[in-house]
Amino acid sequence: MLCALFLSAVILIPACRQTEKEAPPKKTVKKTKVEERPVSVPVFNADSAFYFVGKQLSFGYRIPGTEAHAQTARWIEARLRSYGAKVKVQKGRGRMYNDKVIELHNIIASLNPGARKRILLMAHWDSRRFADHDPDPQKRKKPVPGANDGASGVAVLMEMVRAMQSQPLQHIGIDVVLVDAEDQGTPDNMGIAYGPNSAESWGLGAQYWSRNPHRSPGLFRYGILLDMVGAAGATFPRELYSLEYAPQVVEKVWNRAAKLGFDNYFIMEKTAGGITDDHYFVNTIAHIPMIDIIHYDVLKNSFFPYWHTTSDDLTQIDRSTLNATGHTLLELLYSEDITL
Ligand SMILES: [Zn+2]
Repeated sequence: MLCALFLSAVILIPACRQTEKEAPPKKTVKKTKVEERPVSVPVFNADSAFYFVGKQLSFGYRIPGTEAHAQTARWIEARLRSYGAKVKVQKGRGRMYNDKVIELHNIIASLNPGARKRILLMAHWDSRRFADHDPDPQKRKKPVPGANDGASGVAVLMEMVRAMQSQPLQHIGIDVVLVDAEDQGTPDNMGIAYGPNSAESWGLGAQYWSRNPHRSPGLFRYGILLDMVGAAGATFPRELYSLEYAPQVVEKVWNRAAKLGFDNYFIMEKTAGGITDDHYFVNTIAHIPMIDIIHYDVLKNSFFPYWHTTSDDLTQIDRSTLNATGHTLLELLYSEDITL
């Protein structure tokens, strides 16, 4: 979705700007010593995550206002409740690129709801209404299945919540916010003019949540957004807004991935320009430092190969990629439970 981001998102910023901004402050406080201690971490089950992707697609296209969208929401909510999370749905409104106002449903699942030290995890659960980047012009008005663009991030977070119930976090709390209408932004290649505020036509659910957070933003130490985290051979470069607003979080996540042998996914050496994804709005409106883990090919200057096409279906999803993301984040959270 983000891809949407991309488009939307994708406001690429000259590389020269990146270099100056990249060096994160080196603070090593007591981290090293504590992190050496082995931490018991629940197992991330990639088969389960894969099933969660497929299940979302089985309802149909998750386009706001449709029955498939409503059914998917009910299933996600019920699943998260069954894993012991405190779940609520935040209803709001957002203005589309065509000025139409739509109803939004952000699904919020809280673990350890009373904890004062919290981490925000986010993904978008809607899928894009039109495949405006499909190579076949005949298909550009068809919807995107959204297996990677949307469903993969939701699936990874759902599997993390499922896994964590066996060993609840002791000290920190987690809020999983699955935002709606990330990916309904201004169409491309369809002869429709870009609106004056095309960036704001993306991430409607995240914009609403950032203006109406369900708890004080000050409780969140940081946030992590997942977008397109399930395709084979995914590469996650360090993204510019993430480096700008939350450099320490980027460092933590990419270092953690490297320790686990996932540095072929989390590419420390590569940086992407700023992407207008949900994290952009959380950073700029709610002022919670938040990073984006997103599949982006720096050499080709593009998102994953089937981004916003009708081919973004279950065949693109690779359990190994889901595992690299989910495993890394579980390891991070259980380490934070001791050190944060
Ligand atoms: Zn997208």
